Amino acid sequence: MSAQIIDMAIVGGGIVGMAVAMTWSRRSKGSLVVLEAEDGLAAHQTGHNSGVIHSGLYYKPGSLKARNCVEGREALYAFCKEQGIPHDRCGKIVVATSEAELPMLAELERRGGANGLEGVQRLSPAEMREREPHVTGLAGLHVPQTGIVDYVKVTEAYARIVREAGGEFRTGCRLLGLARESSGLVLETTRGVIRARYLVNCAGLQSDRVARLCGVEPGLKIVPFRGEYYTLIPEKRGWVRNLIYPTPDPRFPFLGVHFTRMIDGRVEAGPNAVLAFQREGYRRSSFSLRDTLETLTYGGFIRMASKHWKMAAEEFYRSFSKAAFVRALQKLMPEIQSADLQPGGSGVRAQAVTPDGALVDDFRIVEADRMIHVLNAPSPAATASLSIGKEIVDRVENRASAARK
Ligand SMILES: Cc1cc2nc3c(=O)[nH]c(=O)nc-3n(C[C@H](O)[C@H](O)[C@H](O)COP(=O)(O)OP(=O)(O)OC[C@H]3O[C@@H](n4cnc5c(N)ncnc54)[C@H](O)[C@@H]3O)c2cc1C
Repeated sequence: MSAQIIDMAIVGGGIVGMAVAMTWSRRSKGSLVVLEAEDGLAAHQTGHNSGVIHSGLYYKPGSLKARNCVEGREALYAFCKEQGIPHDRCGKIVVATSEAELPMLAELERRGGANGLEGVQRLSPAEMREREPHVTGLAGLHVPQTGIVDYVKVTEAYARIVREAGGEFRTGCRLLGLARESSGLVLETTRGVIRARYLVNCAGLQSDRVARLCGVEPGLKIVPFRGEYYTLIPEKRGWVRNLIYPTPDPRFPFLGVHFTRMIDGRVEAGPNAVLAFQREGYRRSSFSLRDTLETLTYGGFIRMASKHWKMAAEEFYRSFSKAAFVRALQKLMPEIQSADLQPGGSGVRAQAVTPDGALVDDFRIVEADRMIHVLNAPSPAATASLSIGKEIVDRVENRASAARK
């Protein structure tokens, strides 16, 4: 057993774990190890997302999402500039396509104001077409703060700074169990034992399981939702200048299929939100008996499914029917045709669900003795990563100074 005690162990080499690691390293807080189960960083949510720097428009004023998204967004723009990471503060439009969506569009405008977004502008149909000539809708919002970036590049830059400060990375190293001793924590991993004073769980799709194996009851379960994308064929990329979003359904934490210009020039359409049968499986055929049984036998899932079965069935249908996917996109852009779209990638969202069947909307960060668990960090956690990293390192510092008193 290793006798060396490391000050901080971070479980998970996605963007949240790496942001915590970089904040810790930049404050010269002591020795650090990042444990990552896969052979490289950013292998799951961080490497399979839409690459949008979110503005903070959607989130309930005062929520962790609202605060961390707004602060994190500006910190991320500054970081990208400082590190020479390609990005573009290109702005986006949100489109209402039916009378029923107008109150929600007005609510988004109000939330944007409450969250400190300046310059959000109401658009008439003609004004929308000036910005996005192929869009149709009744009304829209232009949000100038939104941008695009490659989050894998951002994560790599965080990791470079950690490495330069002497932080250690153990990839192919999965946390399996945890015990306590008087000087701290004993972590059992697939690559041996590590002793640490603090642990931060940033395990994304596995965060509830990691909490449990650390002896913390998370009070929720991660239910995986796969998001599938199409990409516009190169000849049609010009139809989307920047980002075009529908007005979201307020009952769900997903934003609805949208058009996203990526920083590498591709244009993605999607993602949908389909219940997945494997937490880290990216194909329609991906299946894990353990993951599926855990979801289907969870009371929270059963309660959620009984409330939202219609939406779930529609998403399933749209997953298998390209025509249905195209119809959803045609609400925003009637001219788009099936032949304009080719299959793209997919990602799996870690969505926390409580035992009463509620989809946890806000970020959830839970503290325990010598530990912090990030239990719900879905979108916009990539945008918000620097702010979440700061929040977590502040909390560790507060706990450490309270323990010294
Ligand atoms: C389809 C999709 C689109 C999205 N679009 C956007 C967007 O445009 N903008 C935005 O801001 N956000 C977006 N998000 C959300 C964003 O990607 C996530 O919030 C963010 O990547 C979460 O980062 P993370 O580090 O918490 O998780 P992850 O990136 O999933 O990292 C967790 C890591 O923990 C590791 N791990 C798990 N268990 C263990 C263990 N026992 N031991 C060691 N390691 C372990 C995993 O291998 C993994 O690498 C999107 C997400 C999805 C899925």
